Amino acid sequence: MVHLFSHQDPFLIQQVCDALESRGIPFWVKNRYAGGAVGELSPLDSWPEVWLTDDEWLQRAQRLVDDLNTASPLAPWVCDECGEENGGAFEVCWQCAHVIGADPS
Ligand SMILES: [Zn+2]
Repeated sequence: MVHLFSHQDPFLIQQVCDALESRGIPFWVKNRYAGGAVGELSPLDSWPEVWLTDDEWLQRAQRLVDDLNTASPLAPWVCDECGEENGGAFEVCWQCAHVIGADPS
């Protein structure tokens, strides 16, 4: 078992899990539903943690995590169609309704 990633945001954890799963990388999540729990644990201890069950995947899995972090859903993005900058929480350009990631037509 090797620790891969931990984060306060369960959404980001889920993205990492999806990425690992789609590539057939075996993993295990600790504290998955413990976010926001109060008790004896410090906040850091209750963050969800993603572990790899097999060390040999670490390098590849780490690259996936890095990609997800750079392509954070909260990072602003620039529309391919009209060049407008949009907030990361949106998937559709507010200016021209172009959908993020769609092929420019
Ligand atoms: Zn646009």
